[in-house]
Amino acid sequence: MGKTILIVEDEPTLVSTLQYNLEREGYRVVSAGDGEAGLSTARAERPDLILLDLMLPGLDGLEVCRILRREMQSPIIMLTAKGDEVDKVVGLEIGADDYITKPFGMRELVARVRALLRRSETAAPKRGDALTAGDLSIDSVARKATRDGRTLALKPREYDLLTFLLRNTGQAFTRDQILKQVWGYDYAGDTRTVDVHVRWLREKIEREPSKPTRLITVRGTGYRFEG
Ligand code: CA
Repeated sequence: MGKTILIVEDEPTLVSTLQYNLEREGYRVVSAGDGEAGLSTARAERPDLILLDLMLPGLDGLEVCRILRREMQSPIIMLTAKGDEVDKVVGLEIGADDYITKPFGMRELVARVRALLRRSETAAPKRGDALTAGDLSIDSVARKATRDGRTLALKPREYDLLTFLLRNTGQAFTRDQILKQVWGYDYAGDTRTVDVHVRWLREKIEREPSKPTRLITVRGTGYRFEG
Protein backbone atom coordinates (compact mmCIF):
# COMPACT_ATOMS: atom_id res chain seq x y z
CA MET A 1 0.00 0.00 0.00
CA GLY A 2 1.23 3.49 -0.83
CA LYS A 3 2.43 5.73 1.95
CA THR A 4 0.13 8.50 3.05
CA ILE A 5 1.25 12.10 2.75
CA LEU A 6 -0.63 14.94 4.38
CA ILE A 7 -0.46 18.37 2.76
CA VAL A 8 -1.36 21.31 5.00
CA GLU A 9 -1.47 24.30 2.67
CA ASP A 10 -3.94 27.10 2.03
CA GLU A 11 -3.15 27.70 -1.65
CA PRO A 12 -5.50 25.39 -3.58
CA THR A 13 -3.46 25.45 -6.78
CA LEU A 14 -0.31 24.40 -4.96
CA VAL A 15 -2.25 21.65 -3.19
CA SER A 16 -3.52 20.22 -6.46
CA THR A 17 -0.11 20.41 -8.12
CA LEU A 18 1.47 18.66 -5.16
CA GLN A 19 -1.29 16.10 -5.02
CA TYR A 20 -1.01 15.32 -8.72
CA ASN A 21 2.74 14.86 -8.56
CA LEU A 22 2.77 12.81 -5.38
CA GLU A 23 -0.06 10.54 -6.49
CA ARG A 24 1.80 9.92 -9.70
CA GLU A 25 4.65 8.63 -7.54
CA GLY A 26 2.27 6.18 -5.90
CA TYR A 27 1.62 8.04 -2.67
CA ARG A 28 -1.78 8.44 -1.13
CA VAL A 29 -2.46 12.13 -0.53
CA VAL A 30 -4.75 13.82 1.97
CA SER A 31 -4.90 17.57 2.46
CA ALA A 32 -6.07 20.29 4.79
CA GLY A 33 -6.41 24.02 4.12
CA ASP A 34 -5.59 25.44 7.55
CA GLY A 35 -3.76 24.62 10.76
CA GLU A 36 -6.66 23.26 12.78
CA ALA A 37 -7.80 21.01 9.95
CA GLY A 38 -4.19 19.93 9.48
CA LEU A 39 -3.96 18.80 13.09
CA SER A 40 -7.21 16.87 13.05
CA THR A 41 -6.38 15.21 9.72
CA ALA A 42 -2.94 14.26 11.02
CA ARG A 43 -4.48 12.73 14.14
CA ALA A 44 -7.03 10.80 12.12
CA GLU A 45 -4.74 9.64 9.30
CA ARG A 46 -1.36 9.21 11.06
CA PRO A 47 0.38 10.13 7.78
CA ASP A 48 3.83 8.80 6.91
CA LEU A 49 4.98 12.29 6.07
CA ILE A 50 3.60 15.82 6.38
CA LEU A 51 4.12 18.79 4.07
CA LEU A 52 3.35 21.81 6.19
CA ASP A 53 3.01 25.37 4.96
CA LEU A 54 4.53 27.94 7.31
CA MET A 55 2.02 30.74 6.70
CA LEU A 56 -1.43 29.37 7.34
CA PRO A 57 -4.64 31.08 8.38
CA GLY A 58 -5.43 30.53 12.04
CA LEU A 59 -2.87 28.29 13.70
CA ASP A 60 0.34 28.91 11.78
CA GLY A 61 2.74 26.25 10.57
CA LEU A 62 5.19 26.69 13.43
CA GLU A 63 2.51 26.08 15.99
CA VAL A 64 1.10 23.13 14.09
CA CYS A 65 4.58 21.64 13.76
CA ARG A 66 5.28 22.01 17.44
CA ILE A 67 2.03 20.27 18.38
CA LEU A 68 2.50 17.47 15.84
CA ARG A 69 6.00 16.84 17.09
CA ARG A 70 4.68 16.03 20.52
CA GLU A 71 2.11 13.63 19.18
CA MET A 72 3.74 11.73 16.36
CA GLN A 73 7.04 11.00 14.71
CA SER A 74 5.97 11.47 11.10
CA PRO A 75 8.64 13.47 9.30
CA ILE A 76 7.65 17.05 8.54
CA ILE A 77 8.79 19.19 5.61
CA MET A 78 8.00 22.86 6.04
CA LEU A 79 6.99 24.84 2.97
CA THR A 80 8.37 28.32 3.44
CA ALA A 81 8.40 31.50 1.42
CA LYS A 82 11.54 33.49 0.66
CA GLY A 83 12.33 35.74 3.57
CA ASP A 84 10.71 33.54 6.19
CA GLU A 85 12.86 32.97 9.19
CA VAL A 86 14.01 29.58 8.12
CA ASP A 87 16.42 29.17 11.03
CA LYS A 88 13.44 28.95 13.33
CA VAL A 89 11.92 26.24 11.25
CA VAL A 90 14.51 23.52 11.32
CA GLY A 91 16.29 21.81 14.12
CA LEU A 92 15.60 22.04 17.78
CA GLU A 93 13.30 25.05 17.70
CA ILE A 94 10.23 23.30 16.41
CA GLY A 95 11.47 19.98 15.18
CA ALA A 96 10.73 20.05 11.47
CA ASP A 97 12.87 17.58 9.54
CA ASP A 98 13.40 19.62 6.42
CA TYR A 99 12.15 22.71 4.62
CA ILE A 100 11.80 23.80 1.07
CA THR A 101 11.48 27.39 -0.13
CA LYS A 102 8.69 28.41 -2.50
CA PRO A 103 8.65 28.42 -5.43
CA PHE A 104 10.14 24.95 -5.71
CA GLY A 105 10.30 22.38 -8.46
CA MET A 106 8.18 19.27 -8.13
CA ARG A 107 11.13 17.02 -8.89
CA GLU A 108 13.07 18.56 -6.02
CA LEU A 109 10.10 18.19 -3.68
CA VAL A 110 9.50 14.56 -4.60
CA ALA A 111 13.19 13.80 -4.07
CA ARG A 112 13.07 15.31 -0.57
CA VAL A 113 9.92 13.36 0.24
CA ARG A 114 11.48 10.11 -0.90
CA ALA A 115 14.70 10.76 1.03
CA LEU A 116 12.87 11.55 4.25
CA LEU A 117 10.59 8.54 3.98
CA ARG A 118 13.59 6.32 3.44
CA ARG A 119 15.36 7.84 6.43
CA SER A 120 12.35 7.48 8.72
CA GLU A 121 11.90 3.87 7.69
CA THR A 122 15.38 2.96 8.82
CA ALA A 123 15.35 5.21 11.88
CA ALA A 124 11.97 4.22 13.30
CA PRO A 125 10.92 0.71 12.43
CA LYS A 126 8.05 0.78 14.93
CA ARG A 127 5.33 3.27 14.30
CA GLY A 128 3.09 2.70 17.31
CA ASP A 129 5.82 4.69 19.00
CA ALA A 130 6.12 3.71 22.62
CA LEU A 131 8.88 5.52 24.44
CA THR A 132 10.54 3.69 27.28
CA ALA A 133 13.27 4.34 29.81
CA GLY A 134 13.70 1.76 32.54
CA ASP A 135 10.32 1.17 34.16
CA LEU A 136 8.87 4.28 32.52
CA SER A 137 6.86 4.01 29.35
CA ILE A 138 4.91 6.49 27.26
CA ASP A 139 2.23 5.61 24.77
CA SER A 140 1.99 8.72 22.63
CA VAL A 141 -1.13 7.54 20.83
CA ALA A 142 -3.08 7.12 24.06
CA ARG A 143 -1.15 10.00 25.70
CA LYS A 144 -0.56 7.76 28.67
CA ALA A 145 2.53 7.33 30.81
CA THR A 146 3.13 4.30 32.99
CA ARG A 147 5.67 3.35 35.60
CA ASP A 148 6.10 -0.33 36.27
CA GLY A 149 2.92 -0.91 34.30
CA ARG A 150 0.91 1.48 36.44
CA THR A 151 -0.60 4.57 34.86
CA LEU A 152 0.90 7.80 36.15
CA ALA A 153 -1.57 10.55 36.94
CA LEU A 154 0.12 13.31 34.98
CA LYS A 155 -1.24 16.73 34.15
CA PRO A 156 -1.09 17.50 30.41
CA ARG A 157 2.03 19.68 30.79
CA GLU A 158 3.75 17.10 32.94
CA TYR A 159 3.02 14.53 30.28
CA ASP A 160 4.35 16.84 27.56
CA LEU A 161 7.46 17.61 29.59
CA LEU A 162 8.16 13.94 30.28
CA THR A 163 7.64 13.05 26.62
CA PHE A 164 9.97 15.81 25.48
CA LEU A 165 12.70 14.80 27.93
CA LEU A 166 12.39 11.10 27.19
CA ARG A 167 12.59 11.74 23.46
CA ASN A 168 15.80 13.64 24.05
CA THR A 169 17.37 11.42 26.69
CA GLY A 170 20.86 12.45 27.69
CA GLN A 171 20.56 15.93 26.21
CA ALA A 172 20.69 18.99 28.46
CA PHE A 173 18.21 21.80 27.89
CA THR A 174 17.96 25.28 29.31
CA ARG A 175 14.73 26.30 31.02
CA ASP A 176 14.05 28.64 28.10
CA GLN A 177 14.43 25.83 25.59
CA ILE A 178 12.11 23.63 27.61
CA LEU A 179 9.56 26.45 27.86
CA LYS A 180 9.60 26.91 24.12
CA GLN A 181 9.40 23.23 23.33
CA VAL A 182 6.85 22.16 25.88
CA TRP A 183 4.78 25.24 26.58
CA GLY A 184 4.77 26.81 23.18
CA TYR A 185 6.74 28.72 20.68
CA ASP A 186 5.76 32.15 21.91
CA TYR A 187 5.00 31.25 25.46
CA ALA A 188 5.84 34.28 27.55
CA GLY A 189 6.09 32.44 30.82
CA ASP A 190 8.39 32.46 33.75
CA THR A 191 11.16 29.87 33.59
CA ARG A 192 10.23 28.97 37.18
CA THR A 193 7.20 27.27 35.63
CA VAL A 194 9.66 24.69 34.37
CA ASP A 195 11.17 24.19 37.83
CA VAL A 196 7.74 23.66 39.35
CA HIS A 197 6.78 21.05 36.79
CA VAL A 198 10.12 19.32 37.15
CA ARG A 199 9.47 19.10 40.89
CA TRP A 200 6.01 17.64 40.33
CA LEU A 201 7.32 15.19 37.79
CA ARG A 202 10.09 14.04 40.12
CA GLU A 203 7.47 13.21 42.75
CA LYS A 204 6.01 10.79 40.25
CA ILE A 205 8.99 9.28 38.50
CA GLU A 206 11.86 9.35 40.98
CA ARG A 207 12.42 6.78 43.69
CA GLU A 208 13.68 9.58 45.91
CA PRO A 209 12.41 12.91 44.54
CA SER A 210 14.95 14.86 46.60
CA LYS A 211 17.82 12.84 45.08
CA PRO A 212 16.81 12.55 41.45
CA THR A 213 18.61 10.00 39.32
CA ARG A 214 16.55 10.46 36.17
CA LEU A 215 15.45 14.05 35.85
CA ILE A 216 18.79 15.63 36.59
CA THR A 217 19.53 19.28 37.28
CA VAL A 218 22.39 20.48 35.10
CA ARG A 219 24.09 23.19 37.08
CA GLY A 220 24.10 26.52 35.26
CA THR A 221 22.05 25.11 32.41
CA GLY A 222 18.76 23.45 33.13
CA TYR A 223 17.72 19.84 33.02
CA ARG A 224 18.57 16.54 31.47
CA PHE A 225 16.85 13.16 31.43
CA GLU A 226 18.89 10.04 32.07
CA GLY A 227 17.62 6.78 30.63
CA1 CA B 1 0.24 29.91 2.97
